[in-house]
Amino acid sequence: MGLQEEVQKRKTFAIISHPDAGKTTMTEKLLLQGNLIRSAGTVKGKKSGKFATSDWMEIEKQRGISVTSSVMNFEYEGFKVNILDTPGHEDFSEDTYRTLTAVDSVVMIIDATKGIEAQTIKLFKVCKMRGIPIFTFINKLDREGREPLDLLDQIEEVLNIETYPMNWPVGMGKRFLGIIDRYNHQFVKFNGNEEETYIPLDEIEQYADIAENPTFQETVEEMELLNEAGDQFSIERVLEGEQTPVFFGSALAPFGVEVFFDTFVKLAPAPGPRRTKERVISPDYPDFSGFIFKIQANMNPQHRDRIAFLRVCSGRFERGMNVQLARTGKTIRLGQTQQFVASSRDTVEEAYPGDIIGIYDPGSYRIGDTLLDGKQTFEYDELPSFPPEMFQRVTAKNVMKAKQFRKGLEQLVQEGAIQLFKTYPTDSFIIGAVGQLQYEVFQHRMKNEYNVEVMLESVGERIPRWLKKEQVDTKLFDERNLLVKDREEEFLVLFKNDFALRWFIDKHPDVELIDLFEVN
Ligand code: GDP
Repeated sequence: MGLQEEVQKRKTFAIISHPDAGKTTMTEKLLLQGNLIRSAGTVKGKKSGKFATSDWMEIEKQRGISVTSSVMNFEYEGFKVNILDTPGHEDFSEDTYRTLTAVDSVVMIIDATKGIEAQTIKLFKVCKMRGIPIFTFINKLDREGREPLDLLDQIEEVLNIETYPMNWPVGMGKRFLGIIDRYNHQFVKFNGNEEETYIPLDEIEQYADIAENPTFQETVEEMELLNEAGDQFSIERVLEGEQTPVFFGSALAPFGVEVFFDTFVKLAPAPGPRRTKERVISPDYPDFSGFIFKIQANMNPQHRDRIAFLRVCSGRFERGMNVQLARTGKTIRLGQTQQFVASSRDTVEEAYPGDIIGIYDPGSYRIGDTLLDGKQTFEYDELPSFPPEMFQRVTAKNVMKAKQFRKGLEQLVQEGAIQLFKTYPTDSFIIGAVGQLQYEVFQHRMKNEYNVEVMLESVGERIPRWLKKEQVDTKLFDERNLLVKDREEEFLVLFKNDFALRWFIDKHPDVELIDLFEVN
């Protein structure tokens, strides 16, 4: 098979959601459909009590997360599907955001009983910022949830994206009859079990129990309104990230999952061209290239190795090939390459654009690094940095260890494990993260790799806003609105809370505050 065909077969995506919306359940059902696992319940160690057998990443093991499920791949309907995990709960970290730079589309799961929740908004913003196509699955239709129209309104208002319902639920909870699949002109009947019945809409009259059911009739009327007043489906707008196709169903039943996934694999984009600092590289560019979006450290002190996750962007990868690290020009042989499949670590022999490979990292890589083959050199665009939300003052327990402390801090920051800030003008170190796990990993690695015990003192959740250099006036700031510098020597203020931020804006309307995370 040629390179172009391999590219067209790939569908690389992530599932984003708020904890408990049903991401794990959905992932399991998709893996079942792909025949990758025999029984559900093996995705997250936490629930099945099974842990990966390797000693990889002790903290994650303690927490019961299987690292090997970071990337799952399987074949489905002739497509090669790659699902990238976006860790949530307390494991939410910058890696969760960075993973979104490595996918071509996203599935957003919303709990019908709760609507849009905080973590979904955060992850959604990153997708919107990057123009990633988003497919929505509204889950838990087997329970009494919010009205479908309400949910669509909320998506449009809160997330500022057009919605197009691909199907429409008939009833909910106890009265749930199934879905009208607008896209394929059929009624999918819910039988209260895994079996679904598909009835073409123009044959529905033959099924009196459905056609004459008042709930069904109401829904048909509702849909007619929708057809007249709602937005038109536009694949172009979907691919631009301006419209989201919405599916309803239940991951647990499962119901509507197959209809959703069949449509998703057909409509979701294959790997596309990617920007480099020099030019745009198409996936069928013949030479191999890719970038590192995540580095995972081993928490076992006996095994300090790390794994760098690389997204292949062009050409064909072959195990054992020599590649160049664009940042340094150094040649590296990619011998130990692993692909992560459900609960076993397999070695990859070859990979194509859209695929993710895990590379043994002796400490040479940084987040955002480009690896490539061939005569031409280029570097993929830098990965965006994501404003941290939690901040801690960090010091070495033993002042005699100042040198190792700085070295460790410097390296871990460079690796992208944590973000570093310095208070101004007092020069104390503050580290920032988007999730608690990042601090635990930081503390653990400082001790194990640099032999430094660090003390962390929380300065709480803060709202960061960047400032223009010429507008910095130290008199305006204090502990409440803390003035710090980032690694690029840019100034920012860590506001205590929303109230403090608004108060400041009110008092100093002339000071421009820059929100790096603003999308709309
Ligand atoms: P995650 O935190 O997003 O990965 O959510 P899980 O997949 O672990 O699901 C959270 C809870 O919701 C679990 O108890 C699931 O069994 C339940 N759940 C998931 N999907 C459905 C559904 O379609 N209907 C109902 N009633 N419960 C569901």
